[in-house]
Amino acid sequence: MPREQSANFRVGVGYDSHPFARGRPLTLGGVSIPSEVGLDGHSDADAICHAVADAVLGAAGLGDIGEMFPDSDPANKNRNSIEMLGAAVKRVQSAGYLVNQIDVCVVTESPRLAPFRDKIRANLAAALGIDSASVSVKGKSNEGMGWIGRKEGLACIAVATLKGNR
Ligand SMILES: [Zn+2]
Repeated sequence: MPREQSANFRVGVGYDSHPFARGRPLTLGGVSIPSEVGLDGHSDADAICHAVADAVLGAAGLGDIGEMFPDSDPANKNRNSIEMLGAAVKRVQSAGYLVNQIDVCVVTESPRLAPFRDKIRANLAAALGIDSASVSVKGKSNEGMGWIGRKEGLACIAVATLKGNR
């Protein structure tokens, strides 16, 4: 590949985790999922959006979502994470990048994400400004091991690729 093409292609990884808590909503990828327990956190605790935002920001070398929306700011309490993701995308676009594609893995024992996967993909695609065919979302159990296996919370890993737009 010619140098000028490869130099504009960037890869980033993002990770997030939140504990389960009673009386909290379970929101993943902007989708409200019926569940006895939700996710605890300062914002709406949408681990998919947070991991994807960190992957996108990381690919552009622009820090992370915690810097953009600190826990210490009361304005961020229960903040909608799709909005936070949109703000992260705007930041990478301002730096001259477009999101190319993302791949997301949610590690949890429950609930099953399959029934909600297409809606999650559509929400993420809209926030990222790409086609949902370029958004992959996978659910994976932790085979009963460790804190995820004990259903204390869930974790999410995301990879994003960006291309330069100038
Ligand atoms: Zn988070």
